[in-house]
Amino acid sequence: MLRIGLTGGIGSGKTTVADLLRSHGLPVIDADLIARDVVKPGEPALAELAEAFGHDILNEDGSLNRSLLATRAFVDAKHTELLNSITHPRIKAETARRFAVAEAAGEKAVVYDMPLLVDNGLDKDMDLVVVVNVDAETRVSRLVKWRGLTEEDARRRLDAQISDEQRLAAADVVIDNNGHLECLDRQIADLMVRIRGLEVE
Ligand code: ATP
Repeated sequence: MLRIGLTGGIGSGKTTVADLLRSHGLPVIDADLIARDVVKPGEPALAELAEAFGHDILNEDGSLNRSLLATRAFVDAKHTELLNSITHPRIKAETARRFAVAEAAGEKAVVYDMPLLVDNGLDKDMDLVVVVNVDAETRVSRLVKWRGLTEEDARRRLDAQISDEQRLAAADVVIDNNGHLECLDRQIADLMVRIRGLEVE
């Protein structure tokens, strides 16, 4: 089974591209979704987080109060490591499980939509790395326009990630999303031809 890593900086259009690939019949494993699923009510990681960071990080309905957890976990490296030691093994296991499910279902290729693919060195595990690329200024304006972020917040989030140059250096395929959404169609069609070719190799 072909593993296709899909990544890009914040606001680059990963979700948009993932949706297009899905519409071409490719299954998508969404890393953000997995990170949320492992801390759902009833999951062992959620109980461990409450033990570690205080039971008031749980909302009345038992769900995780993410912003309160963030204020306690991201104060220093020690607490961030504690958070990661609880969530990362679960995320890793659940990701591996979803790949295995796709393989068992006979899928020839699967897309792994992972914002931090290159940041975390996971690009090495992929057969094909697809990077969605957009100029930083365009990303800032899209995040302000469509996501309601302040310009300052958008820039801060961009700066917290690896540079575009580092990400692009890991790319086998670059999708240019600087233009109109329609400009993606041709690029995705070409990518699908490449993927179908790799599947039969
Ligand atoms: P995040 O990093 O926050 O998860 P993302 O990389 O998944 O974001 P999208 O959610 O796909 O990015 O796109 C960010 C925003 O920009 C969305 O509101 C989307 O509709 C819009 N957008 C994506 N591509 C284009 C484009 N070519 N032209 C204009 N707007 C676009």
